[in-house]
Amino acid sequence: GQCVAVCPTGALTVKSEVDKVWDAIHDPDKVVVVQVAPAVRVAIGEEFGLLPGEKATGQMVAALRKIGFDRVFDTLFTADMTTIEEGMELLGRLEKGGRLPLFTSCCPAWVKYAEQFHADLLENLSTCRSPQQMFGSLVKKHYAREIGRSPEQVVCVSVMPCTAKKFEARRPEFTTGGVPDVDFVLTTMELAQMIKEAGIVFNELEPEVFDNPLGMGSGAAVIYGASGGVMESVVRFVAAQQSPGDVGRVDFYPVRGIQGIKEAELEIGGQNLKLAVVNGLANAEKLINRIKSGEAFYHAVEVMACPGGCLGGGGQPYPNNTASRLGRMKGLYALDRAEQLHRPQDNIFVTRALERWFGGPANANTHQALHTRYYPRRRISGKPVEVSDRREERPV
Ligand code: SF4
Repeated sequence: GQCVAVCPTGALTVKSEVDKVWDAIHDPDKVVVVQVAPAVRVAIGEEFGLLPGEKATGQMVAALRKIGFDRVFDTLFTADMTTIEEGMELLGRLEKGGRLPLFTSCCPAWVKYAEQFHADLLENLSTCRSPQQMFGSLVKKHYAREIGRSPEQVVCVSVMPCTAKKFEARRPEFTTGGVPDVDFVLTTMELAQMIKEAGIVFNELEPEVFDNPLGMGSGAAVIYGASGGVMESVVRFVAAQQSPGDVGRVDFYPVRGIQGIKEAELEIGGQNLKLAVVNGLANAEKLINRIKSGEAFYHAVEVMACPGGCLGGGGQPYPNNTASRLGRMKGLYALDRAEQLHRPQDNIFVTRALERWFGGPANANTHQALHTRYYPRRRISGKPVEVSDRREERPV
């Protein structure tokens, strides 16, 4: 467990937490809960001889149980929750004339970049926590109580395609009384390492399914792993909110694919929405310049730092090249097609959880538990600004 992961933005070096996760699993006083991001399931198999995008969800779940995780949950659950909260946020801004474009905020490398280089845009960022952090908040504040444990007794581990997610989990906003909402973040590669360390023969595992209630996700949540996926999920949510009688599928092809900048227009509720999707921070910079100069206008913009979105993240297996990324992307859309639940609001476990824990979506309670704020960051020769410095700066 001594491997060192490097952040795709080059600003951060983080040690693997594999050893700490093994310690937690072997601690009889802890309940160890794991969540797995969408892009992991279409890439982990590559470490065991499968092709990029070949479905390995069932084997991955079985491997996580064999490793010893007490509950095997799915980040898809909170991806659906994020879409609902963010979709409501977009509708609210459209209605009330709020700051536009609404930028997505689930990629921590993009959030940090905006904090460093575009402080004037921070009010445009969605206040929604990322699916990883919504999950941590739910587990520590609500799930722990329901199973009769304290937040300290429940260890929340994430498996992410991403190294920047380690940094996100350590943001002070996502810690309550010294207890982080997400205790440890493993990359796809680090999970593969644990599977090998445990001597598990991945390809011989019988497929298993996630635990409930936090293991259920819609197809709209699966595609979060691909560039354009968050935007398409929001479109599915908003389209269904605006025309409740219509239960047809919305497959929104203009935002799919690995191109660096994608644009789309869509009429929803009598309004023509202009949308943009970018992957790669250099592309984000180009788009932002066009927005700031008045050359372009959008209602909503999705930004992901990695090429192709999270499926091309810095924690994914090698080779992490265009061919692998295309394969994983195909895999994610195939999972979406096979999924019976198409839109986030179809996920009854999510809508029930929102009702039970917060009295519904998009209210003061969800804002407390599922949303966040952003801070301008000073740039000190590429090093992250110390937390104590950061606290002095005014929140936006
Ligand atoms: Fe992480 Fe890359 Fe996804 Fe951003 S796009 S959340 S850096 S994997």
